[in-house]
Amino acid sequence: MAHGAHRTPLLPPHPDLRLARDCEQCLGWGTVVTRDGEHELCHICQPDAADSENPGFRDA
Ligand SMILES: [Zn+2]
Repeated sequence: MAHGAHRTPLLPPHPDLRLARDCEQCLGWGTVVTRDGEHELCHICQPDAADSENPGFRDA
């Protein structure tokens, strides 16, 4: 049996690696590790992780 609904997933939703490529904050990963050891979308290069207003796909 797997553990039930957990609020924080182990992996964040797909980061856009094209945006992350030149990012010094996440070094191209698109994610950063918090002090709690959790991965979250890099807030520097990724579109707003907390506020997903955009449909998703964007050709930069
Ligand atoms: Zn980044």
